[in-house]
Amino acid sequence: MKILFAASEALPFIKVGGLGDVLGALPKTLHQMGHEVHVVLPLYSQIKPQMREKAHYRCHFSFPHAWRDVYCGIFDAEIDGVSYHLIDNEQYFKRPQVYGEYDDGERFAYFSKAVLEILPKIDFFPDVLHANDWHTALVPVYLDTQYRLMQGYGNIRTVFSIHNIEFQGKYDPFILGSTFGIESRFLPLLTHDRDLNLMKGAIECSNKVTTVSETYAKEIMNPYFSFGLDTILAPRSFKLSGIINGIDTVLFDPATDKNLPANYSAADLSGKKVCKAELQKELGLPVREDLPLIAMVTRLTPQKGIDLFYPVLNELLGEDLQLVVLGTGYPEYERFFASFEPYHPDNFRLCAKFDAGLAQRFYAGADLFLMPSKSEPCGLAQMIAMRYGTLPIVHAVGGLSDTVEPYDPTKKTGNGINFCSFNAHDMKDAILRACELYGDKENFTAAQQNAMNGDYSWDKSAKIYEALYREIL
Ligand code: ADP
Repeated sequence: MKILFAASEALPFIKVGGLGDVLGALPKTLHQMGHEVHVVLPLYSQIKPQMREKAHYRCHFSFPHAWRDVYCGIFDAEIDGVSYHLIDNEQYFKRPQVYGEYDDGERFAYFSKAVLEILPKIDFFPDVLHANDWHTALVPVYLDTQYRLMQGYGNIRTVFSIHNIEFQGKYDPFILGSTFGIESRFLPLLTHDRDLNLMKGAIECSNKVTTVSETYAKEIMNPYFSFGLDTILAPRSFKLSGIINGIDTVLFDPATDKNLPANYSAADLSGKKVCKAELQKELGLPVREDLPLIAMVTRLTPQKGIDLFYPVLNELLGEDLQLVVLGTGYPEYERFFASFEPYHPDNFRLCAKFDAGLAQRFYAGADLFLMPSKSEPCGLAQMIAMRYGTLPIVHAVGGLSDTVEPYDPTKKTGNGINFCSFNAHDMKDAILRACELYGDKENFTAAQQNAMNGDYSWDKSAKIYEALYREIL
């Protein structure tokens, strides 16, 4: 099959969140299964020079978009059998940030159109075009409204994946023509709750809509989780399914991870003790094997459940445990966590930065990994933690509920600890239960073994995507 992914981030070039991880691993796995896979992404100025150098100039041209002609350069790279095409336009992608610019709608509309414009230039018309999240939601919309009758585009089937329904690309309907270059007769296709809603347009136009866990696929048909799209998704449940993400098990392997002071495996966990002691030293915490070390590696945003800490953080830090947080995000959350550090120098640290190497040392050095997300489409962090033998404590929603099974000491099954209602004291209770389990070495080790022996690879999920693609073809 000929498969083309369109996305706003993809490893090994650029990663801001879990989307970058998924777009790094899924195309590679599909290639290994024998498919011809291409990935299109923007050539951001944030791409590191050593990766930037891997992409070679192919050509440039301009295409009509809305009221003007726009420049489009194509840079190509081939990595692990996957062909990457990076779209060059410095007006849009030479910016201080990947996301969060005042004109993100315009930037990603341009990118979505470029994805379709480059197909004749790269001489690749895919069987399946797979778009991801609101940034590329206009790809299936442009395809259906502007390209279908052009040579090569007629038979392309489309899949749209929702990695996070919170961000839908909502704009004033007034800019439909001027910014998005779409004729006013298509206004109803894109309108939802009186906004232009790009994600809604993609749901309408795509042959299949997927999201990243089975539970989240059900949850987003419910107003509590849907950010307003349940009324669109529920009637279209016939084309909606949930496919759990995997992780890159080669990249995330405690036996070979070069970021760690010591390597280890499920068969020999001694290196994990070294990782814990070194992490405690690195963070300036007392080196205490007896205390459970609980880590978080997260965006500091409401979705990640940070609000739950306000009523209980002080109580929690009075317990025999160490809590370390690696994350950036809302300044008020950073200030809140930072304000606790001076009062709990021996058992609390906030590292307010994005640091991939340090994240690996957190996953390896901690005993427990806390992820109290209010909602969680899939969640990769809990799977990485489990692979590193660090037991997740999670709010049982979305992908967290599909991947973390509460440990049962009678049957010795399960790989983590969960709590079921989004409530601060329920979270605290789960943390204390986890600390108790830490004190019970036999059961803790059994749960660790279960976690480390789980299958988090992409193999199973990539086969489900393959079957889905075949179905629409
Ligand atoms: P989301 O995509 O919603 O942010 P996921 O759990 O799916 O959450 O993926 C988050 C990814 O980003 C994980 O690989 C996690 O390790 C990484 N990450 C999050 N915050 C940081 C940080 N401050 N430093 C390094 N890596 C981080």
